[in-house]
Amino acid sequence: MLFVTKTYLPSKEKFLKYVNEIWQSHILTNNGSLVQALEEKLKQYSNCSNVLACANGTIVIQMALKAMNITKEVITTPFTYVATLDALLWEGCVPVFVDINPDGFTIDVDKIESAITENTEAILATHVYGYPCDVDRIEKIAAKYNLKVIYDASNAFGTSYKGKSIFQFGDISTCSFHATKLFHTAEGGGLFINKNEYYEQLCLYRSFGHIYDEYFSMGINAKMSELHAAMGLCVFEDLEKILEKRKEVSLWYDHFLQRGVHLEVSKWDSVDYNFAYYPLVLESQQKVFDTMKKLAEKNIFPRRYFYPSLNKLPFLRTFYPCPISESIAERILCLPLSNYITQLEVEQICDIINRSK
Ligand SMILES: *Cc1c(COP(=O)(O)O)cnc(C)c1O
Repeated sequence: MLFVTKTYLPSKEKFLKYVNEIWQSHILTNNGSLVQALEEKLKQYSNCSNVLACANGTIVIQMALKAMNITKEVITTPFTYVATLDALLWEGCVPVFVDINPDGFTIDVDKIESAITENTEAILATHVYGYPCDVDRIEKIAAKYNLKVIYDASNAFGTSYKGKSIFQFGDISTCSFHATKLFHTAEGGGLFINKNEYYEQLCLYRSFGHIYDEYFSMGINAKMSELHAAMGLCVFEDLEKILEKRKEVSLWYDHFLQRGVHLEVSKWDSVDYNFAYYPLVLESQQKVFDTMKKLAEKNIFPRRYFYPSLNKLPFLRTFYPCPISESIAERILCLPLSNYITQLEVEQICDIINRSK
């Protein structure tokens, strides 16, 4: 069986070394030393001075919205994992979808200004597949209209732009450390807080809004446990190896595939890409179904990331047409990509795709 990804597992011995530490300390959670050690690593790696390790990649978006007191309209992308939208809706915000650009699948910056109203408070954009948004122009628009900027950088761990970690952009960047992601803590998420003013509030939110007997604000439970941090510390040690392998596999796909369109992100100016996903755009939705059927016969299961285009979800009150996102979402497949896939398997997958007419 080959799925879209296979979770990276670090050395079990290394993990057990941390588990032994936990057995010694009897501390399993509440901002323990392993969570703090992981945050230190993430700070050094991203060059962000305010990093919080949290419970998952959805609640960190909710916390960011809450800390910025955003309750009204938020301009966002229809082409992302549904969690980006869930966080907005859960916080009672009103999503305003802006279509994506076909050359990068991120929010189309040319269409943002016409979507701004007197109720617009923020832009929440996703570096989808780890492809950076046009962060320079988004920053200019945000400054002009006095909007907050949050990036969902869940796909983008390891991507840098103009030599800076992608987490350094936006007022706050969020990340998911879920087991399916390139860097993971089994379940987990991170806040990369670039505006210092939000740091203390977010610390409080993470842990019920109080420090011992002093109660400062409302809060929630968004803490990361020591066991999850232990996994993160182990995976982090292998990060260079993980990034290299994903690049290698992506280059195999580039070499063997003769069908569909794949963006050549490695040739983009100023972008150092993390090779987190291998999305392939086919000619039609029918080709997607045909290809999936042929692959399934060989126990190969790519995923329709990201389908459907979120503006089409049936429970939303307002419909914003986003023809490019709708068209890409219907035609895109993410091919299996992990540290464990072999060149022969990639060749077989490509062969099936190339031949499925
Ligand atoms: C995975 C993912 C999330 C959700 O993260 P969880 O840790 O599973 O809550 C949010 N946004 C994007 C873009 C993702 O890929």
